[in-house]
Amino acid sequence: MIYDDNNIFAKILRKEIPCKKIYEDEFVLSFYDINPQKKIHALVIPKGKYIDLDDFTTKASASEIVGLLKGINTVAKKLGISVDKGKGYRALTNINEHGGQEVPHLHFHLFGGEKVGKMVE
Ligand code: AMP
Repeated sequence: MIYDDNNIFAKILRKEIPCKKIYEDEFVLSFYDINPQKKIHALVIPKGKYIDLDDFTTKASASEIVGLLKGINTVAKKLGISVDKGKGYRALTNINEHGGQEVPHLHFHLFGGEKVGKMVE
């Protein structure tokens, strides 16, 4: 599969369309999901062109991989949903058609701010 440069998150990264930004560094951009499923619903995406977690794990550099994981932790802390704040959250990534992925740029959903409920409906 080839990365689609016209996917919506690629456009957000290029600042062609706006987002409600939460955090940004060298490796990641984080913003609020446009259609929140829980009290807090954030997205964390790598800046590199990766379709999904399999693609990322296969092709990304070690620093990009560490950067994404640390980015998730930083965003959770910023949102006040991390374990050190006495809370917790669900980090989830959908992969390809069977995983229910709609946007073909790797993204982690962070759900929190309340008990997020059953893992799979
Ligand atoms: P997935 O099904 O895992 O690919 O999730 C895609 C997510 O992207 C959905 O939760 C959408 O609500 C969200 N989404 C789509 N367009 C935007 C946008 N422009 N800004 C923020 N979130 C978006």
